[in-house]
Amino acid sequence: MKALVYDKELKLVTDYQKPILKPNEVLIKTKMVGICNTDYEITQGYMGYCGILGHEFVGVVESVGENVDKKWINKRVVGEINCACQDCSYCHQNLQRHCPNRSTLGIWQKDGCFCEYFTLPVENVFEISNNIDDETATFTEPLAAGYEILEQVHIKPNSKVAIVGDGKLGLCISLVFSAMNIDFVHIGKHEEKLKISKEQGAKTMLLSELKDEDKMSFDVVVEATGSTGGFEVSASLVKPRGTLVLKSTIAAKEGLNLATIVVNEITIVGSRCGQFKPIIKLLENKKINPKPLIDGIYSVEDFKLAFEKNSQKGVLKVLVKF
Ligand SMILES: [Zn+2]
Ligand SMILES: [Zn+2]
Repeated sequence: MKALVYDKELKLVTDYQKPILKPNEVLIKTKMVGICNTDYEITQGYMGYCGILGHEFVGVVESVGENVDKKWINKRVVGEINCACQDCSYCHQNLQRHCPNRSTLGIWQKDGCFCEYFTLPVENVFEISNNIDDETATFTEPLAAGYEILEQVHIKPNSKVAIVGDGKLGLCISLVFSAMNIDFVHIGKHEEKLKISKEQGAKTMLLSELKDEDKMSFDVVVEATGSTGGFEVSASLVKPRGTLVLKSTIAAKEGLNLATIVVNEITIVGSRCGQFKPIIKLLENKKINPKPLIDGIYSVEDFKLAFEKNSQKGVLKVLVKF
């Protein structure tokens, strides 16, 4: 089968072995895959991962393994990317995304979905209706990451909330917050990106418009910039005893100044993957439209063009068709 493999370099292999189904798994035929920043970071050495890339997908179940209901066959699905052992203390508490024995689709010890066929445990997959098209469905995973914040932090009706960063991560969070009727301001550097946020209900503000009185005025600030500078701006906006949610893995090369965190007794919450169910519901009810984030759709043969496009400045989401 065709597979996009990273092994020191990214290449399209045409004779990769089709995966063999294990009990409790489904075999998925890929329809569309989104390129994530994590995929790009892997090609720069992140996690030391070698194998098939990709974790944001929509596909159709082709066959099922032992113990799996045959009703799944031919269902159009999306899927959670963390594959847990189901047998440790975290799994027993329903915290599969923190299972220490987990593998992660296309990121850690499990081939990803940038290929014609891949497998996932049946408990990871969710059927989606025809009401959600392929392009929209590939956003389920990044949108779920935005929803995760709402599971972790209690945002009260009168809380003052900001999202900092207007890349695809910040935009996904903003679309989820708007759909959930949260009152917040989305702060970024690019008027044209903030426009996507604004059109779906967010209040927006350019970084250059921040005033002195905005400093230390927010109860909750979500950092989605991925940069040291963005972290420092975000931290400076949080009220004493407020909460700073870190959504991007800042691989700080220079030192991070954490004095604000200590002086203002700020609570830091790290936030990663979220649950799919609430997002599928929001997409089904047309409460979120992620399509304005799409900057290109390529066929897998043109993967080089797709990854090149993805690394261009200002480009949001690039999708790859199978
Ligand atoms: Zn991702
Ligand atoms: Zn486990």
